[in-house]
Amino acid sequence: MMSKFPTYKEVPIAGNIYDPGKLVYKTGDWRTFKPVIDHEKCIKCYICWLYCPEPSIDRTKDGGVEINYEQCKGCGICAAECPVKCIEMVKG
Ligand code: SF4
Ligand code: SF4
Repeated sequence: MMSKFPTYKEVPIAGNIYDPGKLVYKTGDWRTFKPVIDHEKCIKCYICWLYCPEPSIDRTKDGGVEINYEQCKGCGICAAECPVKCIEMVKG
């Protein structure tokens, strides 16, 4: 009996996002809380940079990190994962 669904060979290629629009859409407007980094405590481990799903954390020339608030949606993952807890989520 024939399946009413196409096989994987028949469906068109989909699911590939070639242009996520990161530089066009300012997703930071969706945010309720924003992460603030205490740079005095930051050990520059890049765990936050690695875990940020956007990504909204940029590495700086001095080896540190900074938040791109135009893109950050305020999910709080960076604050949860920072090993020295130097990221605080504050309203805004
Ligand atoms: S709050 Fe979420 S989106 Fe914003 S910098 Fe942290 S991990 Fe990235
Ligand atoms: S996870 Fe914390 S300590 Fe590591 S780079 Fe990010 S802010 Fe700095």
